[in-house]
Amino acid sequence: MAKIICVLYDDPVTGTPTSYARDGLPKLERYPGGQTLPTPKAIDFVPGTLLGSVSGELGLRRWLESLGHTLVVTSDKDGAESRLDRELPDADVVISQPFWPAYLTAERIARAPKLKLALTAGIGSDHVDLQAAIDRGLTVAEVTYCNSISVAEHVVMMILGLVRNYIPSYQWVVKGGWNIADCVARSYDVEGMHVGTVAAGRIGLAVLRRLAPFDVHLHYTDRHRLSEAVETELNLTWHPTAEDMVKVCDVVTINAPLHPETENLFNAALIAKMKRGAYLVNTARGKICNRDAVVAALESGQLAGYAGDVWFPQPAPADHPWRTMPHHGMTPHISGTSLSAQARYAAGVREILECWFEGRPIRDEYLIVDGGKLAGAGAHSYSAGNATGGSGDAARFKKTT
Ligand code: NDP
Repeated sequence: MAKIICVLYDDPVTGTPTSYARDGLPKLERYPGGQTLPTPKAIDFVPGTLLGSVSGELGLRRWLESLGHTLVVTSDKDGAESRLDRELPDADVVISQPFWPAYLTAERIARAPKLKLALTAGIGSDHVDLQAAIDRGLTVAEVTYCNSISVAEHVVMMILGLVRNYIPSYQWVVKGGWNIADCVARSYDVEGMHVGTVAAGRIGLAVLRRLAPFDVHLHYTDRHRLSEAVETELNLTWHPTAEDMVKVCDVVTINAPLHPETENLFNAALIAKMKRGAYLVNTARGKICNRDAVVAALESGQLAGYAGDVWFPQPAPADHPWRTMPHHGMTPHISGTSLSAQARYAAGVREILECWFEGRPIRDEYLIVDGGKLAGAGAHSYSAGNATGGSGDAARFKKTT
């Protein structure tokens, strides 16, 4: 029988909700492009309820315990005294969400001799040292596509929010003001702007599709080029490098995984090549942008705004400068964990675990590392290596409520 550790974010400060804003979720059949939604044999949760926090347990407990497995669910994940560290030595499976990542560094993997499967309830497995996972022969899998559209919607919201100066204008209302000039002195239309995405995978392409009706000029850079039909349909301009693309863009959105090729990609040198007053939206991973270079560019006016929901480390310490830098629209890491997304990735986790325990192959599109190498989606979108360096700093976070 297996021991499964599931690291989830904390419950709401007011406790687990007893009712919800809406009575259900729209029913989706397939993702764009035809991939089927998760297909577990059964689920033990109500879609549309909070599953990603500790008390939601991704809806796994009843099923796993009925099979005789042990499930440990905790949010206590950072530092040597954490519950995660204490439970790791005899764990077979670790499940974690990128929103509240259980950083599986090489040191932690070495202290978990029974560990065989690192499962991401979401998309993006950079919180696992993928090189160490390859070397140890672990399987790393994620629920590909489960929240790609959730993030794409968030990106469009953040682009509009920054360009139209939504958050400061909202704050004037809350403060009791009617300060129209204060609000509009930084407010523009998106129409006519040049908008580019670094990566045109599931999220990047969905962002391009959603922005096309805004009558903007669309650009992208990616390691693999989209089909000619898609480029023509959306009137896309492809650029061989991010550097080529950012020079001509008013808005840049980052939608690539974090791996050695993309870590620190938006450093001071690349940001200096952007148009003065460009907007940068990063919902991919915090480490793709250099923390201090972003702050300096907002302070100097090189960037007119920065928004996103991804930080490094997570949770971000109270003194993380992105909390207080000017002209930002940051949130905690939430875009991929709407109630809608939670229902999909909880079902996907169940599907992957069913395959794992029944000895059936995990869908190729869910695999990141398998058999001692990058596999499936991982072989397409990642490069081998480690992006967890510095994650120990997450232990500095202190709850304020
Ligand atoms: P996909 O795998 O569909 O797309 C990733 C794309 O990134 C691929 O097209 C890949 O190119 C491209 N890419 C990889 N490396 C580079 C590079 N060096 N330069 C340019 N393009 C590159 O994944 P998704 O679109 O679904 O998700 C992308 C990322 O978004 C995730 O890995 C995760 O980090 C983040 N994410 C964030 C969430 C949130 O809640 N904020 C939720 C979900 C995801 P190719 O395959 O052609 O090589």
